Amino acid sequence: MKNRTVNIIGAGLAGSEAAYQLAKRNIKVKLYEVKRITKNPVQFLDGFAELVCSNSLRSNEMTNAVGTLKEEMRLLDSLIIRAAEYAQVPAGGSLAVDRIMFSEYITNELQNNNLIEIIDKEVISIDPNEITLVASGPLTTDNLQNEISKLIGTDDFYFYDAVAPIIEKESINMEIAYQKNRYDKGETSDYINCPMSKEEYLNFYNELIRAEVTIGHLPGEAELKYFEGCMPVEAMAKRGEETLLFGPMKPKGLNKPDGTRNHAVVQLRQDDANNRLYNIVGFQTNLKWPEQKRVFSMIPGLENAKFVRYGVMHKNNFINSPKVLNKFLQLKSNENIFFAGQITGVEGYVESCVTGLITSINIFNYINNKEMKIPTSKSVTGALLNYINKASITNFQPMKANWGIVDEISFDKPNKKITKQEIKKLKNERISNLAIENIKEYIKKI
Ligand SMILES: Cc1cc2nc3c(=O)[nH]c(=O)nc-3n(C[C@H](O)[C@H](O)[C@H](O)COP(=O)(O)OP(=O)(O)OC[C@H]3O[C@@H](n4cnc5c(N)ncnc54)[C@H](O)[C@@H]3O)c2cc1C
Repeated sequence: MKNRTVNIIGAGLAGSEAAYQLAKRNIKVKLYEVKRITKNPVQFLDGFAELVCSNSLRSNEMTNAVGTLKEEMRLLDSLIIRAAEYAQVPAGGSLAVDRIMFSEYITNELQNNNLIEIIDKEVISIDPNEITLVASGPLTTDNLQNEISKLIGTDDFYFYDAVAPIIEKESINMEIAYQKNRYDKGETSDYINCPMSKEEYLNFYNELIRAEVTIGHLPGEAELKYFEGCMPVEAMAKRGEETLLFGPMKPKGLNKPDGTRNHAVVQLRQDDANNRLYNIVGFQTNLKWPEQKRVFSMIPGLENAKFVRYGVMHKNNFINSPKVLNKFLQLKSNENIFFAGQITGVEGYVESCVTGLITSINIFNYINNKEMKIPTSKSVTGALLNYINKASITNFQPMKANWGIVDEISFDKPNKKITKQEIKKLKNERISNLAIENIKEYIKKI
């Protein structure tokens, strides 16, 4: 018979949600948290589920994927969403909170639960025979990092997140951009190419080197030494006017379909199995997000680009989930060990939390020898889990909630004349409704 106590490492967003969900299902929890002994450089509160940066859980609108995700979580009785609504502050269409009230609400809920034992301690080893949920977040302590590396191998544990922006394919102007592989290698034309004349390149270059960059959240982050292979595009540009032409914007082998040579080319590579998201190759960046939108929209073909994820460069622990975990976020090499939160390669407060929610339900099923289940990728919850299960093993990068990862639907345009934006809104409403129906189906099964 399996042990009916679950160790949870980390009382952050994922760990707090998981502790609540397990206790609600009558499972005893030992919740380990190090912050009252040692805080990391971005923590200030003693309470749990601390929002370390923005106080916003982003959009509450159902036509937005993260808004729908929150509704899915409401239906699943998420503690984190309940706390956010309790601590809500006015923020237009977003769900923003008073972070102290938010953390206090969650801390009280967990501390007053008889089934949850709170242990203020740094976990440095994981017992392979005990059921454990690792939810130690993007700033997992060094000792635990070493322990996790022993479990999964150092090659599959990342310490650094160098991500280029990701764009919705549908928003790329294919009247300017074209599909082609460099020197036409390969059987299919996999890349989307955005061509630039000399004048366009110089305008772009001058804006890029002057654009505002983000100062890291963590001490010393601004001075981080970058590997040559993942240097921010703006840092590379500052080395000289021609540098990008020999790097990520090299035009060689990428002439236009009519044979015309370009001065520079920006390439975009498919990012998801559904072929709806593309990343800008070699454009990992530290630019502020509005600056990314402004400067990268100068790239011909990307003038109306919809960014589903901006580029970032910061310290971030995450594991190669598609390789080491199964779809239930259970370690393939030891079924007693589960992972949740940002460490699994989702990104964002809400996304981290939902993985804790679903994984704890699966741990409950695992303990009771019941079939483990996840929602389908018609829902945003299921789509995120699907992404981290099926993404590229060789280039796995964290993902936020967005419509590009949710299953595509067939959508007939209404007969009456309406704008492209109205069509998009109608389509998103439809996808959102389907997502909610899907979660309701999932709830009936669990
Ligand atoms: C600097 C920074 C800023 C961010 N800003 C935002 C933002 O503005 N908006 C957004 O949506 N997302 C942001 N994120 C991303 C992410 O959403 C948050 O980090 C989120 O808190 C992740 O949730 P989590 O539950 O995975 O981890 P966390 O909320 O970080 O929780 C992990 C917990 O585990 C504890 N822990 C770590 N190691 C141990 C150990 N060995 N033993 C016991 N306890 C341990 C930690 O103290 C922590 O309390 C940011 C990330 C970072 C690193």
